[in-house]
Amino acid sequence: MSDIDALRNKIDKITFEMVKLLKERTETAKQIGSLKNHMRLGITNEERENHLRIEVLELSKNIGLDEKTAATFLNFLLNESIKIQSSNKPTHLSVFLKAKELEKQGRKIIHMEVGEPDFYPPKIVKSALSEVYDQGYTKYGDSKGMIEFREAIAKKTSEQYDMKIQKHNVMVSPGARFSVFLAISTLLNRGDEIIIIEPSWPAYKENALNSGIKVRTIHTTLEERWEPKIETVENIINPNTKMIVLNYPNNPTGKILPEKIQDGIVEVATKNNLYILSDEIYSSYAYKYWKTILRYEYSKSIITQSFSKSHAMTGFRIGYAVSSPDIIDKMGKLQALCITNVAEPIQYVSLKALEADTSNNAKTMKNRLDFMTKKARNMQLDFVEPDGAMYLFARIKQESFDSFDFINRLLDLGVAVAPGEAFGNYKNFVRISACQPEDTLNQGMKIIDDALRDQK
Ligand code: PMP
Repeated sequence: MSDIDALRNKIDKITFEMVKLLKERTETAKQIGSLKNHMRLGITNEERENHLRIEVLELSKNIGLDEKTAATFLNFLLNESIKIQSSNKPTHLSVFLKAKELEKQGRKIIHMEVGEPDFYPPKIVKSALSEVYDQGYTKYGDSKGMIEFREAIAKKTSEQYDMKIQKHNVMVSPGARFSVFLAISTLLNRGDEIIIIEPSWPAYKENALNSGIKVRTIHTTLEERWEPKIETVENIINPNTKMIVLNYPNNPTGKILPEKIQDGIVEVATKNNLYILSDEIYSSYAYKYWKTILRYEYSKSIITQSFSKSHAMTGFRIGYAVSSPDIIDKMGKLQALCITNVAEPIQYVSLKALEADTSNNAKTMKNRLDFMTKKARNMQLDFVEPDGAMYLFARIKQESFDSFDFINRLLDLGVAVAPGEAFGNYKNFVRISACQPEDTLNQGMKIIDDALRDQK
């Protein structure tokens, strides 16, 4: 056998051994996952991961393996475990589907689990829908969006924030969700790390997992009023960290960060050359001072926006991203590959929707949230009053609380709420959505109150 054949033989054997070890590791992760499930423990454990990371880096130093390679490999392994362990996690979608099933059986369910405004889209949307055919919006279009629509978004954003945003800063996408996907999957590479502040909308984490990117979680608490510490952000950053996600007003907490904290996070991110992905889809539902990330004029920031909440147009699937032209170009290329372009009839309708005054939506939502918080204050619930968005993220006071049992019991009683676990390690929490008229919310809150009293 020649030298190269012998070495090839050896490398094959090593690879087979590694595959077998991966299988063994996967099985062990599965067993840990079912124990965690049984013990009601969260899936991610930053402390344990950190410990392992330090040991692996120490080992790689001792054996002369490049530390970056070791860290990337470890991130791959950790992600595999998280994927395996996340498969049975309850989400607001699983509750929604269960509720729909019950409705099919003739049961009446009050939907307080989903973040979908019950209002109609602006009136102008109706007439615009009937115009698209005659206007000739029937062909393929620009992958980044119709020029006139991007110009209109740029103009509106510029006026709103007193800034200069141009069409090359804007890309139209099918919902903010797709912009989030594009940003994470085009700007980051396998093994890179992304910082997510929890509680958080689950899709950031799921997108990262899907692209082989390691999530570093910052767990914030109700006691800290959902505010992350700047030092925690600083300490979690390492050479692999490439992006931080911000989402204020926040889903699920409704939190708006105090300006000083937000400034601090942006400063740390800028200093470390991180991308800032700022999901601002609840900005029209800010009930106190809120500052867009655009204000910092940071070239590596990406803002995602949507018509889903502001214009009650969830079903139209329309949103957009605002960023530097080079980032918009990168995201546009992947969008072209995936979907060619967002349907032009929908873009035309949304262009028209920009003319509508939707400020009443925010007023209505604020009144409902006020109504809900007033009720919740007299219930077995702890929470921080939301500064924005459309949810109350509340902790159940009882020690023995089991969110699975409680949410299922509520479903039996006719109310659907979202489990706290969908948003991170918050098993004692539920997210109650205010996307229903006041009398329906009243009935829902009454049922939740009665169920909590029965829990004791
Ligand atoms: N971001 C956040 C924080 C959300 O809560 C949601 C939907 N609930 C989205 C993005 C998705 O928005 P869109 O409908 O525009 O895709």
